[in-house]
Amino acid sequence: MIRFDILSIFPEMFASPFDCSLIKKARENGLIEIAVHDIRSYAEDKHRMTDDAPYGGGGGMVMKVEPIARALDDLSPGLDAGQDGIAVVLLTPQGETFNQKVAGELSLSSRIILICGHYEGVDERVRAHLVNREISIGDYVLTGGELSAMVVVDAVSRLIPGVLGNSESASLDSFATGLLEHPHYTRPGEYRGWKVPDVLLSGNHRDITAWRRRESLRRTLARRPDLLEKSNLTEEDRRILAEIREEIQG
Ligand code: SAM
Repeated sequence: MIRFDILSIFPEMFASPFDCSLIKKARENGLIEIAVHDIRSYAEDKHRMTDDAPYGGGGGMVMKVEPIARALDDLSPGLDAGQDGIAVVLLTPQGETFNQKVAGELSLSSRIILICGHYEGVDERVRAHLVNREISIGDYVLTGGELSAMVVVDAVSRLIPGVLGNSESASLDSFATGLLEHPHYTRPGEYRGWKVPDVLLSGNHRDITAWRRRESLRRTLARRPDLLEKSNLTEEDRRILAEIREEIQG
């Protein structure tokens, strides 16, 4: 079970995404718990200010440190950002890039706290003193951290045993094996003349497994050759890749 706590100034953004599909089921089955906290309710001044002008001038606003620090104190009094099993994450385009490996690491946590920034971002003291991880979901800039938090919750949750119906699905997913996954087909066997490969209809599981591995290698070579360099390829994989390269060149 992982408990996610999300700190945001727009908690209403999370209602629908966490109330659908597998995430909803995972919550209902007690595999994950998600609590969204309004940072505004931790602002102490009468206007409930969560942001202020940047020191040194310039445009944009900066999210204040005190409401976020207070929210973290409230969530878990004495929470030590270095404590084992507890990830306190700042979502920021300047963090480590989120990928399947990071999702896997986070899935071993008992608790994940996600802090969503807005405007120019959060006061640097949040990053320096209150978190133990900074995550970016990609090299682009969003208006706020909420969508990033949803991405992290989704990708991490599906790695928790029991969240996916078929326990095999996650282990064969793209990236989990170091490769992109093979293509999938379902009924009908033919549509507008577009046919499902014969081997998938053959019922021969050895052939199907071999076809899937070959297509996974073919797809990775075509779209993400960088992944092949890092993946643990067998001698057979290398032989198949050589054949695919010949097919492409020939
Ligand atoms: N001025 C900041 C900078 O250049 O690094 C960008 C701030 S951004 C407009 C506002 C907030 O959106 C950030 O504090 C962060 O929480 C979130 N955000 C934007 N892009 C993100 C990304 N690629 N990954 C994770 N969070 C992101």
